[in-house]
Amino acid sequence: AQGLMAGKKGLIMGVANNRSIAWGIAKALADQGAEIAFSYQGEALKKRVEPLAAEIGVTTLVECDVSNDAAMDETFRVLKEKWGTMDFLVHAIGFSNKEELEGRYINTSAENFALTMNISVYSFTAVAKRAEAMLNPGSSLLTLTYYGAEKYVPNYNVMGVAKAALEASVRYLAHDLGPQNIRVNAISAGAIKTLAASGISGLRTMLHFQEKAAPLKRNVTQEEVGSAALYLLSDLASGVTGQVQYVDCGFNIIGMHVDDEAAA
Ligand code: NAD
Repeated sequence: AQGLMAGKKGLIMGVANNRSIAWGIAKALADQGAEIAFSYQGEALKKRVEPLAAEIGVTTLVECDVSNDAAMDETFRVLKEKWGTMDFLVHAIGFSNKEELEGRYINTSAENFALTMNISVYSFTAVAKRAEAMLNPGSSLLTLTYYGAEKYVPNYNVMGVAKAALEASVRYLAHDLGPQNIRVNAISAGAIKTLAASGISGLRTMLHFQEKAAPLKRNVTQEEVGSAALYLLSDLASGVTGQVQYVDCGFNIIGMHVDDEAAA
């Protein structure tokens, strides 16, 4: 294979359908010669993921619910058997109960707080731990975060708290794996209409507001997140670790949005 990812093998976790951010990343990596394996959450998703895998020549598909230790062990056993070593891992997984992605954060239950943290935060560390022994020097790990980690965003609630913890874990993992020349970064993507995002109450308002306020005057695309991921996962970013890279059409730099129509 030719391209920026030629000779590199890795796992992409979190393709649910053709709108998934993980799918945008998969296409960008495959296009540059990466050898990719997919993991998907459960049998119900298999029939959606299989045709996508076939489209870009992915032949290794493993079922892996990250709340299940045995499933994570099995995923890396399969990859070890197939590849021996690997070069990248993409974690594009998040979950919280829909009922708590609306209204006031203060109403978060202990149960959903723990569930959200486990699936959306701890799982990245859990898979990094299992992948560690297999990762070649020069490897790169990537997760996905959102601006709601840093600032209040209506309805994002416990997910914002989880993303803040995820961003902190990127820094701790980058420290721990750095001596082995393994890099760890996150992309903070602008809002995109995906299955997971549709669970957040008022997503349309969020998309509209960001489109108006962002310097580029539009929302980011799945392809643009894919290209940024390609940079971070390839040797182009060999000096970059522990970072949260915004891919949000610049939305994060705006301190006060003036609506041109209202101002006129
Ligand atoms: P998506 O619904 O396509 O992907 C979410 C994935 O998480 C799905 O593949 C789902 O199967 C997986 N998942 C959930 N629980 C799981 C579990 N227990 N075990 C294994 N997998 C599980 O939506 P997406 O928007 O592509 O989300 C990918 C990542 O991007 C998430 O971390 C999300 O928070 C983040 N993100 C999304 C946006 C956005 O606006 N869409 C913005 C910034 C960050």
